[in-house]
Amino acid sequence: MPELPEVETTVKGIRPYLQDHDIQKLVVRERRLRWPIPAGLENRVKGKRVVNLYRRGKYIVVEFQTGGMIIHLGMSGSMRVLLESEHPGKHDHFDIVNHKGGVIRYRDPRRFGCLLFSEDVVANHPRLEGLGVEPLSEEFTGEFLYQQSRSRNVCVKTFIMNAATVVGVGNIYASEALFLSGIHPSRKCSRISFSRYSRLVVTIQDVLEKAIAKGGTTLQDFVGADGSPGYFYQKLRVYGREGNPCCRCSGVIRKIVIGQRSTFYCPACQK
Ligand code: ZN
Repeated sequence: MPELPEVETTVKGIRPYLQDHDIQKLVVRERRLRWPIPAGLENRVKGKRVVNLYRRGKYIVVEFQTGGMIIHLGMSGSMRVLLESEHPGKHDHFDIVNHKGGVIRYRDPRRFGCLLFSEDVVANHPRLEGLGVEPLSEEFTGEFLYQQSRSRNVCVKTFIMNAATVVGVGNIYASEALFLSGIHPSRKCSRISFSRYSRLVVTIQDVLEKAIAKGGTTLQDFVGADGSPGYFYQKLRVYGREGNPCCRCSGVIRKIVIGQRSTFYCPACQK
């Protein structure tokens, strides 16, 4: 599933072909995504200049002078830039064609993604306005997590995965960051100290930045024709390693389920 680093890399890959370009046309082949692509969108975006292209949480925001489009990759989506026209495949649901004929093609076999439109300020769209802080921004600090957590009655893993608090901390990154911080995933979030939250912020940023850096080396996937979405392999210390030895101690990695999500941790290293 595309996570924040994959979305960030996608944005970096398609930005040179969309930002400061006019949309020559939008070609829709399949409207039935998680939410249907609005009828008549093709006419509404034709000729629009893209003034900004950025990531917000796991959404890709294509901003016009007024309004914009919001794209989500869902469970299996990817976007590629085709330098020459290439015959679309079964799961290639829409193309954005820039004024120089460059094709940005969206593929999503499971169709859990979306392409939405906002007539007004795109940041105020209902899908974006309730989102929490960006994990790589200056607003995301130990102080922020400490204050936000005081009145909450959930475990720390659920707390950091709540997109209304902070966006983009997916299941793998949450498990890995909690391990690197030495925090037990089922510890109550309101019982964790300011200093431990400060450490957690650093480790969350570290795992996300490393994944984005890996993605940077696979950027050519987005301009190639091989269709590889380039989701990133990362060295995982606990995630998916149930029953294996911990890389820090002689303990054995365990798996529990928190909020219906598999959670991996070392009982000796995480308290
Ligand atoms: Zn350990």
